[in-house]
Amino acid sequence: MFSTEASCRKYLFCLRWPDGFRCPRCGEATEPKIDREILFRCAKCKHQTSVTAGTIFQDTRTPLTIWFRAIWWITTQKNGASAITLQKILGLKSYETAWAWLHKLRRAMVRPGRELLSGRVEVDECYIGAPENDMRGRESVDKTLVVVATEENGKGIGRIRLKQIPSASGANLIRFLRESVAPGSVVHTDGWRGYSKVALFGYEHQVTVLKGKQEAASELLPRVHLVISLLKRWQMGTHQGAVSHKHLGYYLDEFTFRFNRRKSMNRGKLFYRLIQQAVAIEPVPLDKILHPEKKQPRKLPPQKVPANVERMNLVTELASGSHGRI
Ligand SMILES: [Zn+2]
Repeated sequence: MFSTEASCRKYLFCLRWPDGFRCPRCGEATEPKIDREILFRCAKCKHQTSVTAGTIFQDTRTPLTIWFRAIWWITTQKNGASAITLQKILGLKSYETAWAWLHKLRRAMVRPGRELLSGRVEVDECYIGAPENDMRGRESVDKTLVVVATEENGKGIGRIRLKQIPSASGANLIRFLRESVAPGSVVHTDGWRGYSKVALFGYEHQVTVLKGKQEAASELLPRVHLVISLLKRWQMGTHQGAVSHKHLGYYLDEFTFRFNRRKSMNRGKLFYRLIQQAVAIEPVPLDKILHPEKKQPRKLPPQKVPANVERMNLVTELASGSHGRI
């Protein structure tokens, strides 16, 4: 389907403007004038744009066919993708290019405005990057702390959310809950004081107090602890422990993306989701990927996410599986 630049562009067009072209500057839905087959000029304000402008594909010098191959490969890897393998598979000259692509795509793995977890949700934190016997509970300061929320789905696990947090303080934990879990849900935690105000924020709070033993935690909050052990295995396996703290948030997004779609048998649907999100987020300059701690000037207005992007015809061809909640 994607053997030519034109076919890739057409696909991006359908995902970005499912109801027809809409000018990113003035917001008008017009019939654009088309220059050199790839540039669209707004009939109202004359602003010229392309289907890749304002997306993560902006300014790329690599053909879209190669990008599409990369995205297909990334979405078909069960345990995540490493830059060195991506470089080999695509025959890219530089490791840095493969590394930068993976990082750009990780930023597209979280859907803007995605649904909150609901129902019964287990929540706990863990340290990443530390050997097990180095754990000193919540007092450790030199490790990266990650908070994990896991929906209960009968005896199994529904969707998950992960976030790197600076400390297990009440403020950080509550902020994470409000970003991740719908009010009215039952939030199940241990007796850590950081969770003491959960009930004040519209949740039903179920507390299970652990009595000392470390094994007890995995029995009383079994789902969240299963996710934590998978997360640690993934970090040590696919990435061999080499995930730097400043990029960890984006690796967590990739882990979440894969985990929440683990039962999706239709790889075409994952491919579609990732490209759909890639045209819905702003471009990421390499400097920002390398130095996320630096403040960057904002250059482009935020791109509107098409609300009814789900209804596209092209998509149903590719992703004929059921459209469950993701
Ligand atoms: Zn316009």
